[in-house]
Amino acid sequence: MPLQKISSSEEAIKLEDQHGAHNYHPLPAVLSRGEGVHVWDVEGNKYYDFLSAYSAVNQGHCHPKIVEALHQQASKLALTSRAFHNDVLGAYEKYATEYFGFDKLLPMNTGAEAVETAIKIARKWAYEKKGVKETEADIIVCENNFHGRTTTIISFSNDEEARKNFGPYTPGFIKIPYDDPEALENAIKNNPNVAGFLVEPIQGEAGVYVPSDDFIQRAKDICSKNNVLFMADEIQTGIARTGGLLAVCGHCTCEGHCERQETYTRPDILILGKALSGGNYPVSAVLADDDIMNVIKPGQHGSTFGGNPVAAAVAVAALDVVKDEHLIQNARKLGKLFRRLMDDYIRESNIVNLVRGRGLLNAIVINDSAESTTAWDICLALKENGLLAKPTHGNIIRFAPPLVMTEEQLRDCVKIITKTLKQFEK
Ligand SMILES: *Cc1c(COP(=O)(O)O)cnc(C)c1O
Repeated sequence: MPLQKISSSEEAIKLEDQHGAHNYHPLPAVLSRGEGVHVWDVEGNKYYDFLSAYSAVNQGHCHPKIVEALHQQASKLALTSRAFHNDVLGAYEKYATEYFGFDKLLPMNTGAEAVETAIKIARKWAYEKKGVKETEADIIVCENNFHGRTTTIISFSNDEEARKNFGPYTPGFIKIPYDDPEALENAIKNNPNVAGFLVEPIQGEAGVYVPSDDFIQRAKDICSKNNVLFMADEIQTGIARTGGLLAVCGHCTCEGHCERQETYTRPDILILGKALSGGNYPVSAVLADDDIMNVIKPGQHGSTFGGNPVAAAVAVAALDVVKDEHLIQNARKLGKLFRRLMDDYIRESNIVNLVRGRGLLNAIVINDSAESTTAWDICLALKENGLLAKPTHGNIIRFAPPLVMTEEQLRDCVKIITKTLKQFEK
């Protein structure tokens, strides 16, 4: 039977409503095509995409080089499982480990799987290398974290919606406030069982909270001093989004091939997903050096699809695009311009309190209660004006366009955003 032809947005929404689980609350935009920074709905309306699938589409929609790699590999060999080797995985692992500067890569598919993988590696490392008594390992996490949706990951979330009625929860996690090195030090100091500190270098889902400039390096130093693994979840912040190859690159503008400049804080375990494929395929990965990664031996961890040849070919193309098109520099430049233009508006506005972010991962905080529907209503109005964005946590709107945007397009977008916000001024 051929796929049912959709003739209107209304029809598509109705089908999802009737036949799909209601685990999301999407904006009522039904998209049928994407190219670069734009997407089109079923009716043919064109929008700027200011979410980029939560920063998976950093390279822009349907990037021709990535699509070509996908086509080529999908028509040659798509899946072998890891029961056999394939002729793309090793080349991808060599490319990506050199790109990010680690000995080894463990391939998975989704972000949550990569986080789970990192947790398993850290625990095993604690038992086999640090000498923690089996089943006693702790991992420190931050309040308001977002690391995915599996049972273990939601066990250490403090988002009631994400947690409630999904227990019993996985033990072994200690929560501390974000951006608080003293709290980290106190949590580690008298606890020899700490295996790792799992942290987002900028908290994206929570509302794009950028920590103090020295937080990441201080956290790493505390971890190093206490033989605790510093685990960076860069699934949303990594791969050029925040104007560095990774958010832990700090203020360095290089493309990830330099001799690790002074602002770079090297994670012991690096977790990637989302833009690792440019949004064309689910590809995630955990990177670490041998002394950590080698605790995993055959049979101890895996995934049927993890490391498949399509994923490997797509990831190499996606990382190539980041380098070839200088997306790091562009994200940095346009991010500064975006915040400057928004600040100009905010000074004269009573509807937006502030703009914050780094690179092209930004958010505005709406001047209304977190329970109000104002942010949602603004996103509906933005849609009417040709730009798609989504509220995160109440009165915050995240702005994260594809990084292939031009300066002219960004200025056009700021015009749309400020024009829309003006409709809501009190
Ligand atoms: C999106 C995200 C995840 C989860 O990735 P999925 O692919 O949705 O499982 C984990 N951590 C962070 C920081 C994310 O932004």
